[in-house]
Amino acid sequence: MKRARKITAVEQAAAIYVHFFLLQAVEQLLLRSEAEKIYWHQYLAEYYQYYCTDPSYTFKDLPYHMYKGGLWKQMIQYYRTDQRSIVCPPFNKQKYLNLIRCERHTPDMMNLSRPVRLCQMCALKPGLASPLSVSTKTTCIICGTWIVSHPSMETVGRVCIRHCGRFGPTSDQCFYCERLIHGAGAMSTPGLLCQHCSFGNNANRCARLLESDSGV
Ligand SMILES: [Zn+2]
Ligand SMILES: [Zn+2]
Ligand SMILES: [Zn+2]
Repeated sequence: MKRARKITAVEQAAAIYVHFFLLQAVEQLLLRSEAEKIYWHQYLAEYYQYYCTDPSYTFKDLPYHMYKGGLWKQMIQYYRTDQRSIVCPPFNKQKYLNLIRCERHTPDMMNLSRPVRLCQMCALKPGLASPLSVSTKTTCIICGTWIVSHPSMETVGRVCIRHCGRFGPTSDQCFYCERLIHGAGAMSTPGLLCQHCSFGNNANRCARLLESDSGV
């Protein structure tokens, strides 16, 4: 029996390229209303998340449909906890997560923001910012990239007044479990940003990821 020819990497890339442009054409020509577009993005996100068995499509197309379909909470969970997201190119992960990041600036004055702190439990626990088994205190609080840098090179993230949490800007609240952190610095660890997530304007931008486009 004649064996089917193996698809080359170039052919696979071409198929993904065509798929992407077909998708754009369908979006522009056939789907008229916003609600209709959102419905199909959510439908495709469900397909890629639960039924698609080809990881090369899943890591590329799933975040796109989650973002466009407003499934931001699920996208955060996917990048933070789903082992399949480990192979995602870091620039893609950083792009989508920074798109859903709070836009507010965090001036270091008059209690208008505060630095991000992690409680000791969350700092040591793996799996809060990334599915990699590294302790959370060494990963970027936005994209989960493992940070291996000298302390003097590190950028500590900040949260805006709206995202300071229920204890306000003058108390420390853990970025992940949201518990009040008692005592001074020794009881907590700073929440760090990687070079990409602290580049340019991102350095002074709130570090809270939004779970929906309503700004929550
Ligand atoms: Zn980052
Ligand atoms: Zn904010
Ligand atoms: Zn915590």
